[in-house]
This record gives sequence, C-alpha cells and structure tokens, in this order.
Amino acid sequence: MAFRLANVDGRAALLDDEDNWHDLAAVSAGRCGGDPMAALADLGALHEISATLNPAQASGPFPAARADGRVGPPVPRPTNCFAVGLNYAAHIEETSVTPPANPLVFTKFPTCLVGPDADVVLESSTADWEVELVVVVGVGGRHIAADQAWDHVAGVMVGQDISDRALQFSATPPHFDLGKSRDTYGPTGPVVVSIDQLDDPDDLGLTCEINGELRQDGRSSSMIFDVPFLIAYLSDILTLQTGDLLFTGTPAGVGRVTGDALAPGDVITSTIEGIGTLINRCT
Ligand code: ZN
Repeated sequence: MAFRLANVDGRAALLDDEDNWHDLAAVSAGRCGGDPMAALADLGALHEISATLNPAQASGPFPAARADGRVGPPVPRPTNCFAVGLNYAAHIEETSVTPPANPLVFTKFPTCLVGPDADVVLESSTADWEVELVVVVGVGGRHIAADQAWDHVAGVMVGQDISDRALQFSATPPHFDLGKSRDTYGPTGPVVVSIDQLDDPDDLGLTCEINGELRQDGRSSSMIFDVPFLIAYLSDILTLQTGDLLFTGTPAGVGRVTGDALAPGDVITSTIEGIGTLINRCT
C-alpha cells in the first residue's frame, strides 16, 4: 500500500484516497509519534497504516487544511538538504555554460524550508524560480548501489529552489549555498508520495507557472544525472541520513535567462505529475 505523508499543524499526517488527512499518532495506536521526522524512520508503519485509513474517521479534508495555512513542509528538519545545479540539458543550454562532468552539488540550508502554501518573502529584486523534484531519503546508508537507490527513498515531493541571483553571483566562484538559502526560499510538499504510488519515478512531468503563465515544462527523465546515480554518488562520499532531502535540478525556463525576476504579489504554481502542486505567493 502506498502512502502520502504530510505535516499538518507541525504533526505527521497520512492522507487517504479521498484526500482527507489523519493524525498519524492517533491512527497508529501508539506505534508512531507526532513528529514528521520520526515518521520517516518507520516506513513500514506508513504503508501498513495507510491501508487501514477510514475516510469516515478523518481529521479533516486536506485541501481545507491547506487553505487554512495549517500545512507545513512534510520534512521540516532534514540533517542534510542537498541540491544539484545544471542537471537538465535544456537548462544548461539556456544558461550557456559547459555541461558538468560530475554533479554540481550544493546545500540549501534547511532553515529555508517552508510548506506548500507558504509566502516567499522576497529580500531583493533578483529572486528566480526553479521547480524541482525533491527526493526524501528513507533508509540511509553509505555506498548505495545505483540499482538499489530507489529502495533507499521514502518518497518524493515538489520543491521550489528559489534563487537570489544577485546573491548567488556576488562571489567568485558563485556561492550557490547562500544564494538559494534565504528564509522561505525552499517551499516543499504538499506531501511525500511513496515511490510505489508512481507509474515511473524516473519519468515525471514538472511545470512551473508564474501568475498562471507556463514558464517551465520538463520531464525528470531528461536529467543528466538521474536519481539512482545521484544517490550512489553522494553515498560514496558521506552517509545519507533518514529524512535527508535532495533537490534534483530544474528544467529550462528560469527567469534569469529572460531577465525576469519574482516581484511582490507574484504567485508561483509548481506541479509534478503524480505528486501535487505548491502555490506560493511572493510578498
Ligand atoms: Zn536548482
């Protein structure tokens, strides 16, 4: 049984087939606590409990919880939050840089993470959008083989790698970490979708609209370094931890190329097939 894991009021919640949410601690009869991070340590429980959810006993409809601002980032406090730059050929082409021979990995410091409906608080006139598939590590480890990598993934979610371009390129060489880690510059969610819920986790359509206008439209199958490769690569260097996040890069269509930037009042709508949609307003 697949699961969809959310964060409602700071507590772990599971969604049923009718899009209602259930408080995980309450429906698990003591097996799981309320902490969204702890929930990722027992994936077996998430699968098993999801199969038993009764919509008639739900805590409430998930869309209403979102509308009320009660839904936070599904994975609020990862030990590590990795991100990969220049991972789609069409995006490399539009930015006129040389394709990397190895993954270009940087950090989105976890303090930037916010929920699927959070405001993005702009701090400059040079913020840009990047819709990305975000991988959530389930079973961590070292030296994970590429052909076993998906077995180490708890699930996937939608992410926005909001990037302050002026800050990013204010140092030489550019410091991606800081330019992409301002507070609220990491919307994620709306839920962690388990891999078994997806037809093909290596081929998901992802789009980004700004004020309803389609700006990015790609497929995760066109990554240069795919998810299994990235997990093998990273776990050869360090030990992946349960709950670690990996932003996997963005397709073509970022604002930097056309000279566009986010402005107060803009609405960023980020969607990945089979996972869901983030709706973030800029303030
Ligand atoms: Zn990015």
